[in-house]
Amino acid sequence: MPAPDLDTIVSLSKRRGFVFQSSEIYGGLGSAWDYGPLGVELKRNVKNLWWRDNIHLRDDMVGLDAAITMHPTVWKASGHLDSFADPFVGCLECVRYYRGDHLAQTVLDSKWYAALKKLLAGPAGQKDPEKALRNWAQNDGKKLAPNMPLVKNPQDAVGPLLDVLAKSATLPLCPNCGSAKLSEPKPANLMLSTMLGPVEATGTKVYLRPETAQGIFVNFVNVAQSTRKKLPFGVGQIGKSFRNEITPGNFTFRTREFEQMEIEYFCMPGTEDAHFAKWVQSRFDWYVKYGIAKERLRLRPHEKTELAFYAKECTDVEYLFPMGWSELEGIASRTHYDLNQHAKHSGQRLTYFDEEKKEHIVPFVVEPAAGADRATLAFLCDAYAEEQVRNEKRVVLRFHPEIAPIKIAVLPLLRNRPEIVDRATSLCHQLRASWISVYDDTAAIGKLYRRQDEIGTPFCITVDVQTVGDREKGEVGDQKVTVRDRDSMQQIRVPLAEIEACMRECMAGRWADVAKTYPPQAAKE
Ligand code: ATP
Repeated sequence: MPAPDLDTIVSLSKRRGFVFQSSEIYGGLGSAWDYGPLGVELKRNVKNLWWRDNIHLRDDMVGLDAAITMHPTVWKASGHLDSFADPFVGCLECVRYYRGDHLAQTVLDSKWYAALKKLLAGPAGQKDPEKALRNWAQNDGKKLAPNMPLVKNPQDAVGPLLDVLAKSATLPLCPNCGSAKLSEPKPANLMLSTMLGPVEATGTKVYLRPETAQGIFVNFVNVAQSTRKKLPFGVGQIGKSFRNEITPGNFTFRTREFEQMEIEYFCMPGTEDAHFAKWVQSRFDWYVKYGIAKERLRLRPHEKTELAFYAKECTDVEYLFPMGWSELEGIASRTHYDLNQHAKHSGQRLTYFDEEKKEHIVPFVVEPAAGADRATLAFLCDAYAEEQVRNEKRVVLRFHPEIAPIKIAVLPLLRNRPEIVDRATSLCHQLRASWISVYDDTAAIGKLYRRQDEIGTPFCITVDVQTVGDREKGEVGDQKVTVRDRDSMQQIRVPLAEIEACMRECMAGRWADVAKTYPPQAAKE
């Protein structure tokens, strides 16, 4: 299925409690988002799986949790104070700001540009382009780009705009209003600062870290000495970072406050290329392992001209987000630049003692740097599917069970039968010891299934009259429940005594085998 559009994801996120606009009751704060009850579980799963796979399951990795505010000299040494800047362009017409290096693509992605290109290629545009543009300005233009000079003043704007469109979108245009009156690009530093100390005049100006990486570099010796790790070894960290982005946007893709999952992998100089190649593959495979479609992932090695002067190589893992291919994670081979810089500015020796050669060396570093919010958004977009089931639209999030916020929903077929409700709630509590499980009896079963589909719960378990029996009629229950698989919508009947073992198999992705073991149940949807 093609990627859903971002509006669909934003609206599902709000409706079902994945992500809310920050401070919404006050009109919202631009580009800040709050993770709701389901979103917090989803993002936590992403971070926990990253931590488990990259730290807990490896002999050569340890974790760290450094402070967000660091000594200001850290940022002088790292180069962030002097050169962590993006080119900044302002529109003189509608007074909006853009990243100069993203301008052309943002214009290409804008709805008004696509509409005008289509119009000019069509019969009306071919016959009389000026008239077609004027008509567009009076109708669709008012909705798509009300601030556009063409819309506000078609008489004067139509000629220059036709010239611009005929040339190419690489011409600088304002993505909001289409004006060509833009300021020259200037560098804008992305560091956010604050004051530490109760009195502003005597406080210390500090920066909110723009990346978690530097917390690892400045602790290199602490970690190496306290853990006695031998090279190669890596340090991983998950935490908030802050960047005063010029154009935040695309939902949680680019925000000013975000969370990173970063690794600094220290190795012997000369071995960095092999480690780099291994990390690139390992990070690509990680997204596939948890369900992202391979065809919506790609690796993009950076051109030499894109690399920082100290970097040897850099490859991005890109995902086909609804707004196009964009960076999910970057893996960089950073030489010994950072450790050398911090040694120089701190006056401390940041080296590793090589016992064999009996000499101090400065390790080289490979850095896989991922974003927890971008990864969460990618898992959400990739899981989204719509399909027709019995002439009705079914929205389903096909999350991998380990990514899914809720793993099991226990549903009573009848909520006015105390035996059924009691059995369902006690089953739910039992399962909670191993999997996040919810109980829901607020609607008829068909609707309950659809609700769980829409939030990506992989399995539903239904307790019915057959399970508990009917005391009044003297019928004993069969002590079996119905297990339903989200993706196939198949149902099977499983003895309660075997339910935990069965769920363990299901969560491990072996539904097909499980479904062969137990009798099928006619679908009650
Ligand atoms: P971009 O080119 O998109 O600005 P970057 O190359 O500057 O990203 P890095 O410095 O390599 O990003 O940061 C590592 C990861 O942190 C990115 O791949 C991304 O997942 C995440 N990240 C960076 N900036 C943001 C942001 N403003 N909002 C959300 N996530 C971000």
